[in-house]
Amino acid sequence: MTCKSCNRSIAVPANDLHELLEEQLALETNLVDDVIFEERLAECANCPFLINETTCGHCGCFVQFRARLAYKQCPDPEETRWQ
Ligand code: SF4
Repeated sequence: MTCKSCNRSIAVPANDLHELLEEQLALETNLVDDVIFEERLAECANCPFLINETTCGHCGCFVQFRARLAYKQCPDPEETRWQ
């Protein structure tokens, strides 16, 4: 995966990323269900601003984290890509 600001590659094994996301999401209470989560990730997967399949080029968030949060929207300034 890469850092949004410098685009340098940083090596974070998939298991470590999964563990990090689980830890962070455990602190959240306002989450979307699996259907909405998968719909959001499908939009991200087809988005030209997705970096290395993990990071939103607009906000720098891991999309697997942001897409779970009910109070977040797609940050594309042109138009939200999430319904
Ligand atoms: S701009 Fe929206 S759809 Fe694209 S990667 Fe970011 S959150 Fe996902």
